[in-house]
Amino acid sequence: MSIRAVHHLNCATMCPLPAVLFGGSGLGRGRMIAHCLLVETERDGLVLIDTGFGTRDIEGQTGLSRAFKRLAGPTLDHSETAIAQVTALGFDPEDVRHLVVTHLDLDHAGGLPDFPTAKVHVHAREHAAAMARSARRERERYLKAQWSHGPHWEVYTEDGDTWRGLPAVTKLRGLDADIGLLPMHGHTRGHSAILVHAKDRWLVHAGDAYFHHHAIDGAGKVPLGFRGFEAAVQMDPAARRASAAALRQLRTSYADIDLFCAHDPHEFARYV
Ligand SMILES: [Zn+2]
Repeated sequence: MSIRAVHHLNCATMCPLPAVLFGGSGLGRGRMIAHCLLVETERDGLVLIDTGFGTRDIEGQTGLSRAFKRLAGPTLDHSETAIAQVTALGFDPEDVRHLVVTHLDLDHAGGLPDFPTAKVHVHAREHAAAMARSARRERERYLKAQWSHGPHWEVYTEDGDTWRGLPAVTKLRGLDADIGLLPMHGHTRGHSAILVHAKDRWLVHAGDAYFHHHAIDGAGKVPLGFRGFEAAVQMDPAARRASAAALRQLRTSYADIDLFCAHDPHEFARYV
């Protein structure tokens, strides 16, 4: 057993306006979280999946824009950073040797500088898009300051490997544990879900491939705010729709999969 335990962490709370458009009620602020995983491995130390906001975001050093703060309402709470939670759990932050990210949007990559010696595993298309920042939307969503420390990047492309019939990268360099990338492009050019095999189940961290549980379970309507936001920020609408359809298919086809996205507090509540 190469994975000992998985901790579910919320590494950023955001309170977008108005709540009624984001699954809450009234005109006050809604609530979104940044669902991250801290994985204890037998051989390779700690692995952090997605990173939320980090110390430098909280301290105003990464250039989170005023427009973003007004719209998304991040609480920017020090105690929610991954490094604070790693320490609170009794671990040494230096034992976090690997970061695996769904994508490099500012609310997912903020923790990178808090673990400067960790390898950062990401899809090659995502890495290229974040470095190039060629579209206006990409200049807004990717903050260079979150990787100005020069991370040790490990980038991947699909190489014929599959998982449950879908193109995947099931082996990450330097990691013995079953942790992989499941490309789910569309939200960004190289967005991927992250696979974690622990205790005979597969956790599928879908990142921002969808934003609300109803996008996957079909039990109700996705609140209008999420639909609007999704449409406003997606880089490839057809790819995003195909990714969401593939996740729905996985959920109905296999009983050993636990699927969740990054920002839905309802899904997060299942695990904590
Ligand atoms: Zn996000």
